[in-house]
Amino acid sequence: MPRTVIMSVLAQSVDHFTIEELWHSVQEIVPEIELSTVYRVVQALIGAGLAGETRLPNGIRVIEGLALSHAHWVCSSCQQIGHFSDSTLESLILNLNVSLRDTGTVKGIQIVAWGLCLQCQERTTKAPPQ
Ligand SMILES: [Zn+2]
Ligand SMILES: [Zn+2]
Repeated sequence: MPRTVIMSVLAQSVDHFTIEELWHSVQEIVPEIELSTVYRVVQALIGAGLAGETRLPNGIRVIEGLALSHAHWVCSSCQQIGHFSDSTLESLILNLNVSLRDTGTVKGIQIVAWGLCLQCQERTTKAPPQ
């Protein structure tokens, strides 16, 4: 039951959730659910390849319904998270598999790029000098 609810919350959103944010969303459906349950189920879903997990440059872990490895972009000012085209990622995996052919295989790769979103860029350039 918690597993089904957590999976549907993740599936219905393109957002990246911290474990606490996910817990609050699940609580809207199952008010009595505990954080430890959400944590345990999420770990199982990640292990089963049904949810994705990414560690951001600020150390925060985010969870999402998209399990395939993909490239993230984060605004280091407002912390908004986006995806960018992962054709580079696919060729990187191919190249790694060639260079690691005597060692093993690469199934996924995590890339987190960071910078400033346009809004934050504008805010910083327009802000009066401190
Ligand atoms: Zn993502
Ligand atoms: Zn921003």
